Amino acid sequence: MKKLLAVFLSVVIAFSLSVSIFAQAEKEECDCGNIPVIFVSGFAYTELVANAGTEDEYGAFGVESEAITDMVKKLILPLFELVFTGNYDKFAHKLSAEVNDLFYDTSCDENGNPNNPTVDIEFFEYPSQYHFRNRKSTFRYDWRKDVFDIAAELNDYIEETKRLTGHSKVALRAESMGGAVTMAYLHTYGYDSVETVVMQSSAFDGIEMMTSLFVGDLSLNAKSVMNYVGNFLEGNSTEMVFYRALYNTLSILAYTPVVKLIGGFIGNIEDVVYEDCIKSLFGYIPGIWVFVAEDAYEEAKEFMLDEEVNKELIKKIDRYHYEVMNRKEDIIEDAMANGVNFAIISNYGKAAVPLGEESSNQSDFLIDTKHTSLGATCAPYGETLGEGYVQKIDDGHNHLSPDNVIDASTCAFPEITWFIKDMMHTWYTDGYNEFVYTLIYTPGQETIHTYDEYPQFLCNNQETEALEPLTAENMNTQSTDVDYIALIKLLITKAEEA
Ligand SMILES: [Zn+2]
Ligand SMILES: [Zn+2]
Repeated sequence: MKKLLAVFLSVVIAFSLSVSIFAQAEKEECDCGNIPVIFVSGFAYTELVANAGTEDEYGAFGVESEAITDMVKKLILPLFELVFTGNYDKFAHKLSAEVNDLFYDTSCDENGNPNNPTVDIEFFEYPSQYHFRNRKSTFRYDWRKDVFDIAAELNDYIEETKRLTGHSKVALRAESMGGAVTMAYLHTYGYDSVETVVMQSSAFDGIEMMTSLFVGDLSLNAKSVMNYVGNFLEGNSTEMVFYRALYNTLSILAYTPVVKLIGGFIGNIEDVVYEDCIKSLFGYIPGIWVFVAEDAYEEAKEFMLDEEVNKELIKKIDRYHYEVMNRKEDIIEDAMANGVNFAIISNYGKAAVPLGEESSNQSDFLIDTKHTSLGATCAPYGETLGEGYVQKIDDGHNHLSPDNVIDASTCAFPEITWFIKDMMHTWYTDGYNEFVYTLIYTPGQETIHTYDEYPQFLCNNQETEALEPLTAENMNTQSTDVDYIALIKLLITKAEEA
């Protein structure tokens, strides 16, 4: 009995001690005026490593160049064999075996649990007490997890940030997949701890390319491939415009036969490759399912998974799709009604990943503009909405972009959705960050009408890296009209220098 009492007392003492230590660490409320900013990072922002934290740690996600080179080497012989025998199935099985090896460490079992339990993120940035202006701390996570598990980690991160900084609310910069995580967080933990959410190229509405992959549509289009590669010929210098024009003229000739060849090849191996590796390697990863667009979700589930075998996994991914993704507009509305300031930033002017039937979409080179903006009407890449186009919904404002490419009136939230032309997916510039921090540090809910310098349509000036209002003067940001006189002058100058 005495012993029991002693144990009891020691537990009480230990508990009260820890409470007082905890209380000491608790900072007094901070009134510095700089809200702590948490960057909710995107897919694969932080590397996954196997044997995490040990001497034998190595990169686990099989997209390292060395691993791919090794794989290609192993496939040279089977490829020769294929040329002579025409046995596509045999090659497809061999290829699948190699791909399975390459991605084993990051793969999951049929229930969505990791096959290699030693895999974890390479490093975790702990919440910080520092929150001076324009500083952000980055929330990193294992993107393979069920998004609700990631949201729970984000909740811990936010609570710890509040405790360390003495602020009762934080601001979230949510990029790409981080947008889906943030939506799951808001749905589960409510709005009390969040003052502002800025969605940066958010994946909260899915990605067309991933949707195509998950419904088995691997079709390639030569023009889309050409446009996609052309994404990287950016800028309007005399030389660049010339290169771009040259590229556009020559590449269509080159891509058509090549794409036809690759398309035929894919068509011959895709059934085996899906069954042998794509379904189990990627379909079994819960986190990836946030990228499947709402309207194709059931079709993708049927194509990729088995109702019985994947029962547990389906339970997880259904929860996100039906509780969060399908209710995203309600969640955002509810958040705003509860005092959260919301901003959605969507990029356009880049060609989409050239996979599947929507590969002509307007994009930021990864996520389609119609998805990052929650429903903008967009002209196909390289085109306009057409002469005489009239804004679909007349709400008394102009929501049509000066270049006649975007009609923002059909967005779920047209007054809080901004568009940046020629801004790549998450390739932030100083100008972009300045804009985001202006949204964060200005008190209250801003709209596209709040600032003269930040109207609904902006463009990324590729020379100065500043954001500018999009106007008739600067809207032709990827010109193909070669200025031959300027080009000749440039060549003469260069020849003289040489
Ligand atoms: Zn403070
Ligand atoms: Zn309006």
